[in-house]
Amino acid sequence: MSTNSNAPNTSAMHDVCVIGAGWAGLTAAVDLREAGLDVVVVEKARGPGGRCSTRRQDGFAFDHGAQYFTARSTDFAAKVEEWKRAGLIAAWKPRMTVFGDRPRNAGTPPDQRLVATPSMNAVLKHLAQGLDCRYGWRAANPQREDNGWAIEEFQSPPAIRARHLLVTAPPRQAFDLLAGTTPLAEIAAGVPMRPSWALMLGFEQTLAVDFDAAFDNEGPLGWLARNSSKPGRCGEAWVAHASQEWSERHLESDAQAVTDELLAAFRQRVPAATSQAPGVIKAHRWRYALAAEPLKRACLIDEANGLVLAGDWCAGNRIEGAWSSGRAAAEQILAWYPAET
Ligand SMILES: Cc1cc2nc3c(=O)[nH]c(=O)nc-3n(C[C@H](O)[C@H](O)[C@H](O)COP(=O)(O)OP(=O)(O)OC[C@H]3O[C@@H](n4cnc5c(N)ncnc54)[C@H](O)[C@@H]3O)c2cc1C
Repeated sequence: MSTNSNAPNTSAMHDVCVIGAGWAGLTAAVDLREAGLDVVVVEKARGPGGRCSTRRQDGFAFDHGAQYFTARSTDFAAKVEEWKRAGLIAAWKPRMTVFGDRPRNAGTPPDQRLVATPSMNAVLKHLAQGLDCRYGWRAANPQREDNGWAIEEFQSPPAIRARHLLVTAPPRQAFDLLAGTTPLAEIAAGVPMRPSWALMLGFEQTLAVDFDAAFDNEGPLGWLARNSSKPGRCGEAWVAHASQEWSERHLESDAQAVTDELLAAFRQRVPAATSQAPGVIKAHRWRYALAAEPLKRACLIDEANGLVLAGDWCAGNRIEGAWSSGRAAAEQILAWYPAET
């Protein structure tokens, strides 16, 4: 075990390399660092968040991935209370509506819809503080060596070396990284993910609408939310997600065609938007949004290779699943270190 330090360790062997700065990766990295391990986190995006990130454009901010979350387990609820006290999480109480019939399997509405403030990635930014995080670093070609792993930045040496590797990328990306190096790659490949098209709209003037968020069961949209009705936000920013079925059918469609069709659907639901051209309009495709059927395993472990795979697709979808999978991954890696070292 190396001495815990926040300074980047550029040459030596790290204890753990974590691929991915989303909920699973950063939760694990914090636990590992707090236990005294030397951890490096690599993330291909420009900052932390993953599927729980926030897009900013022309003064507007859009939570274009995860919308809100719930805390069902006692452990996660306790953590949420801590973050609430730190001002990182608040309850969101939108005026809700539903278009069309509620699906039979819709479940009961949650007691509380929680959001991070002032943007959905706020908790992750907080967790990343003090960690050695390398952003804009796309891991490629992890290779097993005598004492651990060598992970290359996409076509750009030098590699990062670490005794243990934790991969928190969505399952198809985990497979692409690890195929041929571990039997876990095949398990990951068997977890299908559903896509989601997101439309972000920023308006100069407030829209006269009698709801802040809506489930739409008649498509092509599945969800609409006034982003700025969440605590700590401002401006008239809206996020609309296409339904899963529509997103699947239009997975490879041209972004402009998707934008046009989703804007028309949005205007049907929010007629006040018809008379105002949005100042910002942007479609984003989440190719791997949600696991169709998570594995119901806390994380995947390849003990012989010192490798763990984690993420929402293991432990049960969504933010709480990613968090608990990250925790389980850290626990597993710590178990590989003898107590006295
Ligand atoms: C449209 C949408 C709506 C959602 N709505 C909700 C919701 O309302 N409530 C809820 O609880 N959940 C929601 N979710 C799900 C939630 O966002 C996820 O469950 C959670 O964020 C997953 O976290 P994770 O750490 O497992 O994975 P991710 O957030 O996907 O993190 C993985 C990270 O790995 C990085 N990565 C991948 N490959 C590499 C590589 N080669 N090198 C370096 N980095 C790499 C990625 O860039 C990413 O940052 C939604 C998701 C989407 C997309």
